[in-house]
Amino acid sequence: MARIAEIFASNVFSDAVMKERLPKETYRQVQRTIQTGKRLDDEAARIVANAMKDWAIEKGCTHFTHWFQPMTGVTAEKHDSFISPVDQGHVIMEFSGKELVRGEPDASSFPSGGLRATFEARGYTAWDPTSYAFIKENVLCIPTAFCSYGGEALDKKTPLLRSVDALNREGLRLVKLFGMDDVKRIITTVGPEQEYFLVDKEVFNQREDLIYTGRTLFGAKPPKGQELDDHYFGIIKPRVQAFMNDLNEELWKLGVLAKTEHNEVAPAQHELAPIFTNGNLAADHNQLTMETMQRIASRHGMVCLLHEKPFAGVNGSGKHNNWSMGTDTGVNLLEPGETPAQNALFLLCLCAVIQAVDDYQDMLRISVASAGNDHRLGANEAPPAIISMFLGTELAEILDSIEAGTAYVGKEREQLKIGVHALPRFPKDTTDRNRTSPFAFTGNKFEFRAPGSSASISGVNVVLNTAVAESLRQYADALEGSEDFENDLQNLIRRVIREHKRIIFNGNGYDESWLEEAEKRGLLNLRTTPEALPYYIADKNVELFTSHRVYTRTEMEARYEIHLEHYCKVLNIEALTMIDMSRRFILPAVSRYIHELTDTALAVQSLTTSATCAFEQEQVAEMSGLLSDAFRKTKNLDAALFGARNVHGGSQALADYYRDSVLEAMKELRISVDQLETMTPSDVWPFPSYGDLLFSVK
Ligand code: ADP
Ligand code: MG
Repeated sequence: MARIAEIFASNVFSDAVMKERLPKETYRQVQRTIQTGKRLDDEAARIVANAMKDWAIEKGCTHFTHWFQPMTGVTAEKHDSFISPVDQGHVIMEFSGKELVRGEPDASSFPSGGLRATFEARGYTAWDPTSYAFIKENVLCIPTAFCSYGGEALDKKTPLLRSVDALNREGLRLVKLFGMDDVKRIITTVGPEQEYFLVDKEVFNQREDLIYTGRTLFGAKPPKGQELDDHYFGIIKPRVQAFMNDLNEELWKLGVLAKTEHNEVAPAQHELAPIFTNGNLAADHNQLTMETMQRIASRHGMVCLLHEKPFAGVNGSGKHNNWSMGTDTGVNLLEPGETPAQNALFLLCLCAVIQAVDDYQDMLRISVASAGNDHRLGANEAPPAIISMFLGTELAEILDSIEAGTAYVGKEREQLKIGVHALPRFPKDTTDRNRTSPFAFTGNKFEFRAPGSSASISGVNVVLNTAVAESLRQYADALEGSEDFENDLQNLIRRVIREHKRIIFNGNGYDESWLEEAEKRGLLNLRTTPEALPYYIADKNVELFTSHRVYTRTEMEARYEIHLEHYCKVLNIEALTMIDMSRRFILPAVSRYIHELTDTALAVQSLTTSATCAFEQEQVAEMSGLLSDAFRKTKNLDAALFGARNVHGGSQALADYYRDSVLEAMKELRISVDQLETMTPSDVWPFPSYGDLLFSVK
């Protein structure tokens, strides 16, 4: 353990390092910047940059980079060396305050959703002092926000920081009403659980689909899948354990609080959960975690698959976003309290989340929408595409009785007076785990289970923070200046429960009847990404984000466009890969095999006229039929792709077309090819099978 304490955050320019290395006054200035967002003056920036550089060089760094998160979903970095020439061919190592605070990468190669057309190609990266600089592979990485020349956000961090501010602004108003005058900041806490698959690199390298798209586009089910449930929490294989040990160590050095690791439901599937931290840092850490997983896997001769659905018929991977809000004084606002007054604040905050999820279910759905996650949501393994909330029976009963104005009869049949001044004490941890709910209350936080495994968690947290900020704004508006606070508060809570309880569903989300029930309640069921995305620019959503200064209308329109484009591009690459695999490998291989069978039958029959050659004949008949199907369906897919060129009506029409025509043609082709796979000898089939992939790591 001592060793862990020693290496923990050893690659982070952390608060402790700053305290040690910065002059007292500069350290205080940085603290102020972190806490209030006040700009660091030039001289302080120069001092910080210099200290950072010295620290990094001592640790073996030669380069620095502004580390940012463009809309590609992966992180970007451009390395610059510290080298600066002086006289007579000598160099010194330099890093100025200006270089720390601002960078100017070319923005033209990153998705901008049209923002680039109206502004310069130049983009700016701006230091985010609230997330610590760190060292990765001998490079000093400075977390930064990325925006256009005109100031529009081109990344995932900028809106996240703005949404954290919005929640802080409105949350502070509210806690003041409850007399919590010592609170200076409202923060969000986030702990994202990350699921992933590990496959052997050699096997991976033989699958074109995995290489190009991150998921298998073909593949017949193996005789053994996950039906025995013997993998979940099972013994971790030595090679995987070695990977996890290395991974933990690397993450700890980066200050990531990696805590639990276990096998997941599917074979070859695993999970890593960190200890929660503040929302901004958690988002950076999750990006780093995904990056590090891939790097360490490679070191162990494996590939880490972060795709939401790498294998059909096998559970996909998600990312559970555990979220809560709290104060800088250490109070978790979603923790039921000890006293009635604390419980009143808890109930109001709970209401704020309930209302937020109900009012902005469309935005929450969009925040998890992607071509990859479409294969997962609603597939009876992950939460349905309908957004609803699980509170547990106990809490739901309490809310019911508050709404009705009657006393809550607890488990012990105690009579409790309901009212804000005498709310019941909530039993802790009675929340039975409902794994089928997309958004579950788990005692003192909410767990949003719909996010996909490969996505940045910024998107979901931007929506959550902003939507909850809006609820809080309304409550603060209503209660500030109230003459009968307790009464008004009680009425407010009652009204919110009445108006938004339709979003609460404690039953089985996988059940068919839920679809009907949800429709009756007027909840949205947005099954696919193209179906969900138009809500992005619905008036009420534009109003939400612009009024809280999280996005401008232009930024929202740009993001809507980026999401549509991304969806089309992903499907286009997948379709092209399928066509290539089919035409160049699968069809020829099967044809050669049929030839071999025919040859065998002819040879046998030339020797003995009585031979029936049943196997060869039937196999040839069936396989050549399937081969013709596969050939025809490959051509259909090709035609569907070609047809995309004639789609008019912009990106939305194109995304709809890809879903309705291209994706359908892909599914059709897969059916025939997967059937062929089950009939073809393994040494003839051109790609490793599902069995080879899922059980490749011993
Ligand atoms: P599970 O049974 O789902 O594994 P845990 O209690 O271990 O439940 O929590 C899962 C995740 O939730 C962890 O990442 C944990 O750090 C995080 N978490 C716990 N409390 C909070 C909180 N107050 N805010 C945000 N995340 C939290
Ligand atoms: Mg969990």
